[in-house]
Amino acid sequence: MSESDETTTGLPALKVNGVSHSYGQRKALDDVSFHVPQGSFTALLGPNGAGKSTLFSLITRLFDVRHGSIEILGHDLSRDPGEALRRLGVVFQARTLDLDLSIRQNLAYHAALHGLSGSAARRRIDEILAGNALHDRLGDKARNLSGGQLRSIEIVRAFIHRPRLILLDEPTVGLDIRSRAAILAEVRRLVNEEGVSALWATHLIDEIDETDRVVVLHHGKVLAEGNVPEIVAAEGVGSISDAFTQLTGLEARKVQAEMVA
Ligand code: ADP
Ligand code: MG
Repeated sequence: MSESDETTTGLPALKVNGVSHSYGQRKALDDVSFHVPQGSFTALLGPNGAGKSTLFSLITRLFDVRHGSIEILGHDLSRDPGEALRRLGVVFQARTLDLDLSIRQNLAYHAALHGLSGSAARRRIDEILAGNALHDRLGDKARNLSGGQLRSIEIVRAFIHRPRLILLDEPTVGLDIRSRAAILAEVRRLVNEEGVSALWATHLIDEIDETDRVVVLHHGKVLAEGNVPEIVAAEGVGSISDAFTQLTGLEARKVQAEMVA
């Protein structure tokens, strides 16, 4: 199937169907089903321990999917992992750049892993970083960049091979408010410009925009899925923050403050 076929057939970018996962006796995901429509920015909203990172470990095949199934643009992860993973870009929660390499070397290494030639990689880096001050820092060693700048470069790296679905696991954790806003804006821009679908895991309700799709995950279960106005209306409340509280019994502002502290 070609990429253009995929955009016209209306397949979801990601389909998670009846997925469960346990660590020994502890059930981290319990019959989880939801989907990420193509071109959407979908927030996976859940407090610490909800199961967000476990789900990402299954989607990236760090763990095998033993119960249920996961499809990326119609390609089943277990049956057709190569085709599925080729369409995926990931920003993990932990930092993964090599601090002793330059920014360009870090990006070129990842591009080569995905089969891009040196010149194709350079063109793509120039394209993604057009108008970004980091473009002048490509020769710098990664260790000379700030936390927010490192995250930006990890996002560039995740986009380099033109994935159709991008996963971001709490990408703003540990950053100051300005860097958080900049990272969020940058990802939203890339998602819109490249027509990519994003699954953005977060416990921070203030990162959610009125136009986002939201999946609420709590104790390994999906409690709600839909657009912000749909979820707010279904809960009969006034805001996504109140909907979160009603669904989880947790106060959104408290979850946010505890996690940031
Ligand atoms: P989140 O990313 O939403 O904070 P996780 O997926 O990290 O949630 O964790 C979900 C649940 O699984 C939690 O109860 C956590 O303690 C447990 N868990 C996560 N990783 C492991 C592991 N490697 N071994 C045992 N339990 C784990
Ligand atoms: Mg996590």
